[in-house]
Amino acid sequence: MRSEFDLIRRYFIHPAPHTRLSVGDDCALMAPSPGLELAVSTDVLVAERHFFGDTDPYRLGRKSAAVNLSDMAAMGAVPRWATLGITLSEQQGEPWVDAFARGFHDELQSFGTDWVGGDTTAGPLAVIAVTILGEVPPGLALRRSGARPGDEVWVSGTPGDAALGLRHLKESLPMTAEDRRHCLDRLETPSPRVALGLALRSIAHAAIDVSDGLLADLGHLLDASGVGAVLELSLIPRSPAMLRQQGLRGWETLVLAGGDDYELCFTAPPQAAPDIQAAAARAGVTVARIGAVTGGRERVLYDPAGRPMDVAWLGFDHFRKA
Ligand code: ADP
Ligand code: MG
Repeated sequence: MRSEFDLIRRYFIHPAPHTRLSVGDDCALMAPSPGLELAVSTDVLVAERHFFGDTDPYRLGRKSAAVNLSDMAAMGAVPRWATLGITLSEQQGEPWVDAFARGFHDELQSFGTDWVGGDTTAGPLAVIAVTILGEVPPGLALRRSGARPGDEVWVSGTPGDAALGLRHLKESLPMTAEDRRHCLDRLETPSPRVALGLALRSIAHAAIDVSDGLLADLGHLLDASGVGAVLELSLIPRSPAMLRQQGLRGWETLVLAGGDDYELCFTAPPQAAPDIQAAAARAGVTVARIGAVTGGRERVLYDPAGRPMDVAWLGFDHFRKA
């Protein structure tokens, strides 16, 4: 592989139309919009833990950007700038770097986000650390802590599809070609719900993006808001691919606790429902009401027969698992 500097010059320099000074100096220089707040978020992906070494590098590049864009979506922020810290070993090789960089750039560019810098280091394990910066008008960011008793709980998309795709890869679960494509697309190239997050800014009381499982991430939102929730399993939307796995043991776990959905879970007062449906339609996303926020601390999920289900409101915890 060529030197660090040649790699940067060849693969990591892209037009950055919203940036005063991009890759090449000691720092990038950006001019934030006057009066707006900066939203900043970082995510780290580790090989063999968050992605397989043999994942298609273009798709991995896209996903590395998408998981960060999803944090912007959850906050109702407009993503503007991103940096990439990456360790590379000889194992990856240049075609990998080329494809990864194209994917990373393409995903950012489709959201008008400039790739403005980063760090490139040789390392034994591929680690991908992305920082993203966005903008939001003061006071309008969608925090986790705003949920109120009486709110309804909503989720976008069909949770569990990425986890179903992962299970298919790990256990060769039988699936139609169409379902397989759908689930692997959800796993490898999630669609950050940026437009939905922006549209929800003055509608939703609280929001979080679902990366570690629906119940776990909703649990974080409820914790931050100091409230409880009552949900119904039958209200949680399932994709055709998931519905065709009705006989699969543990499909509920995929829907409730599967990771990597990158959907939005949010709460809003009941009278906001028409506005939410309209906002989702404009954003090209489906949304569904799955329950209600309560004043106590209870967390209850009812099965279709109306019985409380025995589920853990915990998702994937990297430290616990390790
Ligand atoms: P320094 O040693 O001053 O930190 P580097 O030699 O690490 O600078 O980087 C030189 C330039 O290349 C910087 O502008 C940096 O932002 C950019 N750069 C390095 N790695 C990446 C990367 N993975 N993606 C984008 N830009 C990068
Ligand atoms: Mg320097």
